[in-house]
Amino acid sequence: MASTPEALAQAPLEWDTPLYRMAVSQFEQAVEVAKVPAEIAERLRFPERAFIVSVPVRMDDGRRVVFPGYRVQHSSILGPTKGGIRYDPQVTLGECAALAMWMTWKCALLRLPYGGAKGGVRCDPRSLSSREIEGLTRRFTSELLPIIGPQEDIPAPDMATNEQTMAWMMDTYSMQLGYAVPEIVTGKPIAIGGSVFRHEATGAGVVMVVGRACDRLGLRLEEMRCVVQGFGNVGGIAALELYERGATVTAVSDASGGLHEEDGLDVPALHAYAREHGSLADNDTGRRISNEELLELECDVLVLAAREDQLTAENAPRINASMIAEGANGPTTLGADAILAERGILILPDVLTNAGGVTVSYFEWVQDLGRLFWTRDEIRAKLADKLSDAFDRVWDLAEEQRSTLRTAALVGGIREVSQALEARGIFP
Ligand code: GLU
Repeated sequence: MASTPEALAQAPLEWDTPLYRMAVSQFEQAVEVAKVPAEIAERLRFPERAFIVSVPVRMDDGRRVVFPGYRVQHSSILGPTKGGIRYDPQVTLGECAALAMWMTWKCALLRLPYGGAKGGVRCDPRSLSSREIEGLTRRFTSELLPIIGPQEDIPAPDMATNEQTMAWMMDTYSMQLGYAVPEIVTGKPIAIGGSVFRHEATGAGVVMVVGRACDRLGLRLEEMRCVVQGFGNVGGIAALELYERGATVTAVSDASGGLHEEDGLDVPALHAYAREHGSLADNDTGRRISNEELLELECDVLVLAAREDQLTAENAPRINASMIAEGANGPTTLGADAILAERGILILPDVLTNAGGVTVSYFEWVQDLGRLFWTRDEIRAKLADKLSDAFDRVWDLAEEQRSTLRTAALVGGIREVSQALEARGIFP
């Protein structure tokens, strides 16, 4: 067996899973276009640090269960690492590594002084009580203490985590230091240093990006017929923003399935229903459809705001949308990407389209550090500026290099990080 340093580095690594391979393949496609020096590219193919913990939790029935937890930090070149914490049965080291790499390109593209990270605990959050989730969150946070910090790595919400989860993380961290440290996490409740508009930021950002794409294409957002997969913090808010801006939302879905009404759904009424019943299951508005059927509905804009791997080479030939907005991270596989590009379907890529969340996270962190807080209008305006600037850079680069928006967005992000890496050099 070859044992040169290069050959050893190429051998499968612990985080080598299908999703990580997808992130690396996207990176490799973009790096060729970005014309980044080979040794710089080689450094960015790997996360800087991957941390595995086991999290014991005392369950309500007295049992003790140990859950696996992860935190991967991809790059600290531009500043502290930043990214969400998810609670999901599919969380693995490889999934976190892929998502951490995407966070690096996302932060760099938006010109935020951060690198990417992602973490999570492999569990089924729907089968856990609130007390069990609190215990899991507090113990997971204390296991992460050696690697997180306001200048090192700043967690935020992701799948199945929310303001309350961040409050428990902030409290656990602060209790160790003996004083309140709001800047350790973002996406916190406003009462403990959270930012106004952070809750809405990802979904609202998705719609800002769709609006910008409509402007460039000479279309009117209010004439768009939209289908939204996912009704959580991203999809639910995106559907509401689309509705409020006059677009027609013809279908939405959550984990229980979808609702379809060609004349348009009353999105605020669906929100009221989901708030009262916990999900859209058993709601009898319109026609009930599966998540798979929802993806294939005819529409102008399909918003993917559920999870990764939704559009694949199998269903891509049947997608009936003109534009796809990626609210989730990694919802389109490489195979689907190629088929959709061939079919002329425009994809607004995740690293640009869902960047509203981390952008307002950055505003939250800056406000916490400065102990000075901005108004909702100020934050909304600053977010619109940041997203429009990134959108225009991506759109122009895609035209200039005749590439997809995904490649242009990745090239934009990769170039920012590479320049910094080249300037800083390798230590020691
Ligand atoms: N989890 C979100 C994302 O994937 C937000 C991360 C953050 O705000 O730091 O972009």
